[in-house]
Parts: sequence; C-alpha cells; structure tokens
Amino acid sequence: MMTRSEQLYKEAKQYLPGGVNSPVRAFGAVGDTPRFITRADAAYLWDEDGNRYIDYVGSWGPMLLGHNHPKIRESVVRACEQGLGFGAATKIEVDMAKLICEMAPSVEMVRMVNSGTEAVMSALRVARGYTRREKILKFQGCYHGHSDAMLVKAGSGALTQGIADSAGVTAGCTKDTLLAAYNDLDGVRAHFEREGEQIAAVIVEPVAANMGVVLPQPGFLQGLRSLCTEYGALLIFDEVITGFRLSAGGAQKLFGVMPDLSTFGKIIGAGMPVGAYGGKRCIMEVVSPVGSVYQAGTLSGNPVAMAAGYTMLRLLKEQPQIYDQLQSGGEYFFTQLQKIIQKAGVPCQISHIGSLGCLFFTDRAVTDYESARASDTNAYAAYCRYMLRHGIYVAPAQFEAMFLSTAHTRPLLDDTLQIAETYFSAI
Ligand SMILES: *Cc1c(COP(=O)(O)O)cnc(C)c1O
Repeated sequence: MMTRSEQLYKEAKQYLPGGVNSPVRAFGAVGDTPRFITRADAAYLWDEDGNRYIDYVGSWGPMLLGHNHPKIRESVVRACEQGLGFGAATKIEVDMAKLICEMAPSVEMVRMVNSGTEAVMSALRVARGYTRREKILKFQGCYHGHSDAMLVKAGSGALTQGIADSAGVTAGCTKDTLLAAYNDLDGVRAHFEREGEQIAAVIVEPVAANMGVVLPQPGFLQGLRSLCTEYGALLIFDEVITGFRLSAGGAQKLFGVMPDLSTFGKIIGAGMPVGAYGGKRCIMEVVSPVGSVYQAGTLSGNPVAMAAGYTMLRLLKEQPQIYDQLQSGGEYFFTQLQKIIQKAGVPCQISHIGSLGCLFFTDRAVTDYESARASDTNAYAAYCRYMLRHGIYVAPAQFEAMFLSTAHTRPLLDDTLQIAETYFSAI
C-alpha cells in the first residue's frame, strides 16, 4: 500500500516538474521519494503519514534556533495583523539593516532582496559596476544560487544531478565566469597573472557547504583577500549558509578576513524568503537610486519577512551563549559520529565546523570538488534511507550539509548517534 506521501508525490508529479519546487526535494539522489511535511517544531518534523523525524536539514539552514520558535512566530503574527506588504519604506527595514551592519563586521550598508540567488546576482552586478570590469572568478563545487553566470560547476542540487552546466544557459552568460579549485591559491594567482585587470570579483563560500562541507585551509581566505587587494578586484563572501551560523558576525568574523561585499540568505529570513547583500559604503553607493547599478524588488524588505528576520538576528545578537551551545553540540555530535564510523571500519569521514558538518563516504581527505566527488554516493544513499526509516531526517543527497540547531539537545543527539551506530556496525 502506498503511503500518503507516496500518493501525494504521484499527484505532485502531474502538476509540478518532478513533483517539487526545488530539485533536491525529490529525493532522487538517494533513490527514495519525498516525505510530505505537515508541520515542524523545535528539532522535529512530521510528515503526512504521521511519522516524526529529528530534522538535520533545518529548511537548509534557516532554523538555527529550531523550528517554530515562539518569539519569531509571534513577531510574524503581529506583523501580519498590520498588513502583508506595502511596497513602501518601513521602519522595520531600517532596524533590520542597522542590525545586519552592527553584526557583520565588513558591512556598512545593505540592500534586502528575496533569496540568496538574488543577493548573489545583485552583488555580482555591483562588483562589475563598481570596478568597471567583467570577469568573475568562482570555485568548483561552490553554489551561489541559480543565476546564469553562476551555473558553472555549481554544487548542491546541480552537483548530484550531474549538470555541470544547465541547459538554457547561453555561452555568453558564462564566458566571463572563471573557475578555480577550492583551496587552490596558486590556481587563483594564475588567473590574476593572466587577466587580473579584467577580474571584477572573486566569489567564495568562506566555508564550502554545497559540495558537502569543505573547510578553507589555513591561509586560503587570507590569500584571496591579498590577491583581490593587489589586483583591485572585490572579494565577495557568499555567507548565505555561514552568515549568522558560524558566529554572530558570520565566517568573516570567525576567520577575521574582511570581504568587500557579502551575501546573506537563509538565517536572515528565519524561514521566510529573504536575502541581502551588503558591504562597504563606497561600494554600496553605486546601487540605484544613489548610483548607476540598477536593482529593484516589488517584495523586497517585505514587513512580514523583516519581522521574522529581525527577531531572529536580535535573538542571536542578544544571546551570545547560543554560539557556545551550537559549537559544543556540533563538536560532541560530529566527534562521536566519527568514533562510531572508525570503530565500524567504514571508509567514511566527517567534515565539520560548529553546527555544520557532513559525512563523506571516501577514505581520502576532502579539500575540494574533485576529492568530494570521490565519495561513494550509493553508500550515502543507503545510509540516508536507513536514517529516514528510523526517524532521522538527513539531507537526501551526499553533497549537502547537516544543520544542527539549538533545539538539538544532547538526548536527541544521543538518540541519533545510537541509530547511526546500529547502522554502521551492521554494514
Ligand atoms: C542556498 C544558497 C544560495 C541560494 O540561495 P536561495 O535562497 O536558494 O536562492 C546561494 N549561496 C549559497 C552559499 C547557498 O547555500
């Protein structure tokens, strides 16, 4: 007999391409079918069949404080009571912008948009407008949303789908996109030596989290900073995942490397569709209506979305112990998981930082896209299906991160570890 989720999936496929609104949700990468979710609270998700899961996806990052946080929910309900949107200036936008500028050390001015994709696309336009140069350097396996110029060796869904270049993207759109390997400063330097005066910006995930989790090696981010400064290119940190997760000031604060522009998403919307890009005042003042780089949005700065994001950021700013809790929870969980895997002798390793981590089913060190690709995706798929069947909702694809939250208490982490141990000791 079909489960309710299976029935809904069958129907969904009639009306939505692949039954979903974002490819990874189809569970194709793990040979399974989607769970249709009805509600979520704290660390739990419930599906249409009444199954309960401990959730390690967290809406792909936003749920740093767990699902359905009462303070965030209340602020959204209050905002709704005043009207869903005005398409006009509001105080909450000013409060939100001020708060982001206070928290992210390199950001002096910010523009709100509706997604991470939009934030990146706009930041690239700003970098090109400001420098009057055309080329952008990105790293293989880094994902920066689905705008045309960035769909070159992108991570995340694009990686598991095996689409290095999406159909429908013209050669003209990607001809100014240069590629380097993550952690390979020499490769970046070679690009600059060849055509440094044409490079507008280097864009990087300061911790790569869309090819699994790949940490920057010591000196990598600093090296990018020096090269950009030397050649007059802008350094863009895509902090859509790392921003407000790795510290209250994002990866830039954690690593002490200041980008010229930053992009945000996910956490700053607390689950609502929000993105933002920001940076130094002299750069951001090229944005319309002050400057000549056009960028607009009917729904940008929507008051309901701002209420959610503002409450989230206020909580993070006012309670620095949240980051100690995320750090110790992550350290405990991923270290224990590593021990379980070692004991079982499975060729798999854990890559992690703070509340972010992943399992790579390979015995080689993972430092970039090539080494991440060496992972056994079938082994991941089998692990994922087992975890799902036992009430643990992990990402339905090898090249995605696990997202812990403050709602992942020690007992919940221990329950998860116990299920993982049963799995790994049996294979
Ligand atoms: C998710 C993500 C994006 C795209 O954000 P959307 O809101 O999905 O458009 C961009 N960059 C990074 C690093 C991301 O993880």
